Amino acid sequence: MPASEAIRKADKRVPVAAKATSAGRAVCPACGDGGTGKALENSHGSELFVCGACDLHFWHPARMPDGAWYERAYQGRDRTAMPLEPGHRFFLSDAKRPKSGRLLDLGCGVGNFLAAARDAGFEVTGVEVNRNAAQFAREHYRLDRVFAMQPEEFRDACVDGKFDVVTFFEVLEHQEDPRGFLRYAMECMKDEGYVALSVPNRNRWKKGVETLDYPPNHLTRWSPTALRSFLERAGFEVLSLREEPLGIGRAAQVMSAGLRTRLVSRVAGAKPPTLADLAEMKPQEMERALAHASNGKRQRLAQRLSTLKVRALMPAAAVALPYLRGRGLTGLYLYCLAQRKAQGARRSAEVGDR
Ligand SMILES: [Zn+2]
Repeated sequence: MPASEAIRKADKRVPVAAKATSAGRAVCPACGDGGTGKALENSHGSELFVCGACDLHFWHPARMPDGAWYERAYQGRDRTAMPLEPGHRFFLSDAKRPKSGRLLDLGCGVGNFLAAARDAGFEVTGVEVNRNAAQFAREHYRLDRVFAMQPEEFRDACVDGKFDVVTFFEVLEHQEDPRGFLRYAMECMKDEGYVALSVPNRNRWKKGVETLDYPPNHLTRWSPTALRSFLERAGFEVLSLREEPLGIGRAAQVMSAGLRTRLVSRVAGAKPPTLADLAEMKPQEMERALAHASNGKRQRLAQRLSTLKVRALMPAAAVALPYLRGRGLTGLYLYCLAQRKAQGARRSAEVGDR
C-alpha cells in the first residue's frame, strides 16, 4: 500500500481515547527522576512538582485529553487563518536551521507555519489531532499532506522516508509523556536530523493565574534549563535557545492582570469556567458553558472592557518597557533548535551518562 494511502486510512474520525498515567508516586516525565519535594500548587486533584534533577515543573497525576476535547476547548480558533507565532518566526529567521529538506510539523494547527515553511523552501507535512484545524489547513493553505491523527498513528503509517526537521510549536507542554513524544519525533527523523520547538517560558513575566497554564491543557512548565537538559539527555546538541523578549502587548496584558479594578469581573457576573473546570464536565455541559461564556451579553461586555483596559495601558507599557527588560523580564515564548548528534557521539555521551 502506498504511504499516502496508509496515512489516509489512519486519518480516521474516531478520537483516540485519553490515556491516564498511574496515580502513584510523582516521577518527572522528562528525566524519570523521582526525587521531588513538596507540591508547589494544586488544581483539580493534581499537584505541581519541581524536578530536582532537570528543573521541570510537572503536574501529577497528569492526564491528556482526547482530540474531541481540544476540538471543543479550541473551537473558534481552529477554522481561521492565524498569524505566525514568535516560535515560528524564530525558526524561520534562525541562521543555524537547515535551509531546505523534508519538514514534519507535529500539532500543526491550522497550517499557518507549514505554509510559511513551504514558502521558505521546505517540503512540508503536518499532523494535527484537531480534525477541524487539519481540514482548514488542507483547504485554506492547500496543504495536501496534513493528516488528522495522533503522532504515534502517523509514525506507524509513515513508511515513505524520514524527515530532515521535525517541529512542534506549543505542543510539548500538552504532553503527559514528553519523552515518549520526543521518541515519536525521533523515529520520524533522519540521523542527525533537527528538532525545532517552542513552549511557554516558565520564567516569563506574569501576574495572577493564567488559566490556560493548568491541567488538562498544560501538564508541564519548562525553563531554558529544563528544555536544554531534556534535549541533551535524548542525544541532541542544542544550537539555539531563545527567550522571547518582553513586548509592549504582553507588558500591557500583565500590567492589566496586576491592576485589579474588579470592574470587569463585576460586569461579567459569574466567573467564566477555566479549562480545568471544563475538563470535569460532560460534553454537553461543556458546550453549554462555552456558549454561555462567549455569547452572554455581560460576558461580551466584560471581554470588551478587558480589551480596552489592556489598550489603555499600552502607552504606560511602552514607557516602562526598557526598565522591565532591564530587570530581565521576558515574554511568553521559549524557542529551541537542536540537532541529533551522530551515532558515535551519541554512544560516547550515553556511556558518559552512566
Ligand atoms: Zn526531571
